[in-house]
Amino acid sequence: MPNTSCSVDDNSKALVANIKAQNQKNFDMECIEQQNNPLRKVIHIDMDAFYASVEQRDNPMLRNRAVIVGGKPNGRGVVAACSYEAREYGVHSAMPSAQAFKKCPHAIFVKPRFSEYQAVSKQLNTIFKSFSPLVEPLSLDEAYIDVSNVSILGGSALRIAKEIRAQIKQQTGLVASAGVSYNKFLAKIASDHDKPDGLFCILPADGETFIAGLPIGRFYGVGRATEARMQELGIFNGADLRRWTLAELTQELGKSAHYYFNIARGIDNRPVRSSRTRKSLGTERTFSENLTSAMAMQDKLNELATQLVSDMLDKGLQGSTLSVKVRFANFDTYTRSHSQPGGIMTAEDATRQIPFLLARALAENPAQSVRLLGVSISGLKPIDPDAITQLSLKL
Ligand SMILES: [Mg+2]
Repeated sequence: MPNTSCSVDDNSKALVANIKAQNQKNFDMECIEQQNNPLRKVIHIDMDAFYASVEQRDNPMLRNRAVIVGGKPNGRGVVAACSYEAREYGVHSAMPSAQAFKKCPHAIFVKPRFSEYQAVSKQLNTIFKSFSPLVEPLSLDEAYIDVSNVSILGGSALRIAKEIRAQIKQQTGLVASAGVSYNKFLAKIASDHDKPDGLFCILPADGETFIAGLPIGRFYGVGRATEARMQELGIFNGADLRRWTLAELTQELGKSAHYYFNIARGIDNRPVRSSRTRKSLGTERTFSENLTSAMAMQDKLNELATQLVSDMLDKGLQGSTLSVKVRFANFDTYTRSHSQPGGIMTAEDATRQIPFLLARALAENPAQSVRLLGVSISGLKPIDPDAITQLSLKL
């Protein structure tokens, strides 16, 4: 019989609490260690008052004036962008035009010309790509550029950012702000720091100090609601945020806790992804008549996988993880994945796992027929020459 005396119970409680605390500590440490590497050189470029600046550039009458790009003040339109002259009156983007008009009655309202903004955006991208192939556009006027492996200008991210700003000015007549740092989160904050016409760099040695003093509302990803929630919890800046363990943050903020836990420590391991760096390739088919036979489903998946592998090889890529997606008649959808240590390079590599993945997905809802099947391959990377040789041997 177990001993249920009070002292043992208390002891075991204390022991469990101790282990939990230790696990938490280890977990926190693990998160830090895992994500603290590698440091990158990231530039974030953000055009100043983009749409309004393009309008002022193209129409001298608008220069040095309060310009509001967006819907008419008498309608239900909103402000898409406004010049700094209008911002002085408290006008900002996403504000209803009628409200903007009240704040700044002498402002000139201009209809947006998106084709023009797109043309400038293309020019910007060409400039960015002349420095690094790793360019990730966030919008028409904003992009991350990873210059970790760039050797021009002595490989100095700061000098490259300076040069990018100069070229933007020269080629488009427009002004950009740039932020330079060792990850995306800090680069984006840096570009905002000295706006407009700013260039600001946050070095690895200064990242944590910089974040400690940063008001929580200025954190990228913290909206008004999260800001209010955090302030309720007594979190007003980065230093406050840093005092919370991952477990405590998870309890209060749910899934996003991990992100906040990391950025409070200057950790953001998200890579700069150019549109060409695909994460995965996939294909799926919806059937006009639901499938009920597992054999028929397997045939279909084999067919999809074979085509997918052929597309992947055409793109010069190989993958590591195969996923099978099954959508049942009631629209419940399950995805089951398997990572192949040796990688996925042939149709056979892909189809080998299909029966198992399909069976695992079907087990979720055995009574239902299937309306959609899909296959995807992730963990994509360029095929290395050695693999090609092996591949041709295999074929
Ligand atoms: Mg901008």
